[in-house]
Amino acid sequence: MECSFCGKVYEPGKLHNLCSDCSKPLLARYDLEMVRKTITPNVIASRKPNLWRYHELLPVQDIQNKLCMGEGFTPLIHAESLGRKVDFQYLFIKDESQNPTGSFKARGLTMAVSRALELGVKALSIPSAGNAAGAMSAYAAMAGIPAHVFMPKDVPRTFIKECQILGAEVILVEGRISNAGKKSAEFSQAHNCFDVSTLKEPYRLEGKKTMGFEIAEQMEWTLPDVIIYPTGGGTGLVGMWKAFDEMETLGWIGSKRPRMVVVQSQGCAPIVKAFLDKAKFADFWQDPFTIAEGLCVPSAVGDFLILNALYESNGIAIAVDDMDIRSCMYEFSQTTGIYACPEGAATLAAFKQLHSDGWIKPDEIVILFQTGSGLKYTHLTND
Ligand SMILES: *Cc1c(COP(=O)(O)O)cnc(C)c1O
Repeated sequence: MECSFCGKVYEPGKLHNLCSDCSKPLLARYDLEMVRKTITPNVIASRKPNLWRYHELLPVQDIQNKLCMGEGFTPLIHAESLGRKVDFQYLFIKDESQNPTGSFKARGLTMAVSRALELGVKALSIPSAGNAAGAMSAYAAMAGIPAHVFMPKDVPRTFIKECQILGAEVILVEGRISNAGKKSAEFSQAHNCFDVSTLKEPYRLEGKKTMGFEIAEQMEWTLPDVIIYPTGGGTGLVGMWKAFDEMETLGWIGSKRPRMVVVQSQGCAPIVKAFLDKAKFADFWQDPFTIAEGLCVPSAVGDFLILNALYESNGIAIAVDDMDIRSCMYEFSQTTGIYACPEGAATLAAFKQLHSDGWIKPDEIVILFQTGSGLKYTHLTND
């Protein structure tokens, strides 16, 4: 375990949150020379189609400890009719709505909860405005340990119900997600409970990095030209960026990287603002609001890691309007057959902008991240 900012090294076999010196996220490091000798892409190809096929590159030490409901290895779909509609040939969708609990949060939470159990944790807490809470509740239920969920009190009822039905205790708090974060941290301290806030806990990122392995494997060990990612805490984007480096060290891919695109809503766009300012860190976003709950993160602990991936990849960050997100939900769903969530729809809104600006070239390969199911967002479309 190594601090992503100051490089301080920590013992791997213990529970960790942020770096005790600089309060930045820790990253898991592996003996890649050893992994290189143990497995090859051919060995992986023979394994079951879930994210545990990459287990030598994941933090759970004894694979028997995995909590697996079939998460990961979601389809990478060539969206031909959507492509025709927007006049673009190589448009692909990574459809994360096919994960357990209906979103890619399952990837991170299976890893965090499996590893926490392996290290002896007896109870879990999380602050979340939606999908992360559902996923944490599901894996805690599977493991049979108590889950405490801290949600802003105005989150859609579907998200609250999901956690309650899965057996979690839901505590509704005033204010936004940052306040829920404070409450969850206080509670976990007082009740000897492990807080799995994104990036304040090192293994959710490891679960989400498997999206990077999968894209490479599904594209026969190449990478696309552009990845468009709806960004809240940025765990998935930073995770994929880390996965690319690991695969290059293993000799599975070359040095070419996709240009990474951050999409946020105009109602909460701290990373976009920091990117435009060429800043290293992002400022706190006052009064955040967006219909895309997953993007409503006013302050990301891993801001500098997200920005770094954007700068290094010659990527870009753009903000889209909630009205556009809403209309793209219909267009995305009706041309692909995938019931898109607003966060997923935001990638289409961003794509259109970048395509018409000429930032995306006609013969490039582009992946949109459709991060969750639209089913949890019926409150947005009850006309
Ligand atoms: C959490 C979430 C996001 C944002 O993911 P990060 O990796 O934290 O940036 C996007 N879409 C959906 C549906 C989410 O639940």
